[in-house]
Amino acid sequence: MIIVMQRGASRDDVRRIFEQIEKNDLRPVLLEGTELFVIAVIGDERKLCIEALEAMHGVERVMRVLAPYKLATREHRAQTEVTFGGVVIGGVKIAVIAGPCTVESRAQTLNTARAVAKAGACAQRGGAFKPRTSPYDFQGMGEDALKIMAEARAETGLPIVTEILTPTDLDLLAQYADVLQIGTRNMQNFRLLDAVGRSGIPVLLKRGMSATIDEFLLAAEYVLSRGNENVILCERGIRTFEKAFRNTLALSAVPYLKEKTHLPVVVDPSHGTGVASLVTPMSRAAVACGADGLLIEVTVDPESAMTDGHQSLAPEQFAGMMRELAPVAAAVGRVI
Ligand code: PEP
Ligand code: MN
Repeated sequence: MIIVMQRGASRDDVRRIFEQIEKNDLRPVLLEGTELFVIAVIGDERKLCIEALEAMHGVERVMRVLAPYKLATREHRAQTEVTFGGVVIGGVKIAVIAGPCTVESRAQTLNTARAVAKAGACAQRGGAFKPRTSPYDFQGMGEDALKIMAEARAETGLPIVTEILTPTDLDLLAQYADVLQIGTRNMQNFRLLDAVGRSGIPVLLKRGMSATIDEFLLAAEYVLSRGNENVILCERGIRTFEKAFRNTLALSAVPYLKEKTHLPVVVDPSHGTGVASLVTPMSRAAVACGADGLLIEVTVDPESAMTDGHQSLAPEQFAGMMRELAPVAAAVGRVI
């Protein structure tokens, strides 16, 4: 159930509604918009009487929500803008997050950040903790990687998007990260979703490689229901029978998600295809079908990269991609 408060409703009005909900053993979650308050009710809402709530001071209207994802649904809000480090995702401007799969050295990270900033990226990505399919492969530089990215941020102004693997790392990551990425393998790691939800730090939630869209949105709902409204969804491809690509990039998820949720949607064509030459065409397609942003693997000298070089763009290829995206963005009423 969603309770939309009147414009000008006071915090006291909100408090009284909270009391009413809690009295019925349900949990209220406050969504603070720029102009009005919305209260979501979590739990068996049949216990509440709509008419009685509607009669309470400051209430505009009360709606039952049909979707299983009560907070993520578009039924009560058209669009969320997630803001971090001066970047807005979900507005007119398409946000491009770019950087190496894994931070491998200071020179690689700084040079990549300089190049992607110059080409128009708005944030840097980079893995610090990088457990790989094989335990014998390079596992990332840990906190040293975060320090290097912080140095790149200080120089270029690009905020940091980096993956969190376990709630144990939250305190450390909170010191460096502007956005916490949840990887495909952890989309349904509910303890982790819980932890990032409580942290309030913006979250980039990647779709599980075998997750349905409903499961994806319910994973987002975990974060939202812990009071963190700053969730960015990321379509990064799913596992299919097709062997030509690392994953099958399900671009139809973008307009579908736009119909179902107010959360911004970004696309990762690097992991979505696993093939560098396909990254630019699929980025054009992603922008054309309504994506709010892109997550792109870029590194100086992809051939020598320790991870995902085959799907990474070199800086000059990234700059070319950004030039190609400008007219596509303009054609769909966006800017890049
Ligand atoms: C990544 O973006 O660094 C990554 C590991 O992606 P995914 O979780 O989508 O495989
Ligand atoms: Mn990668």
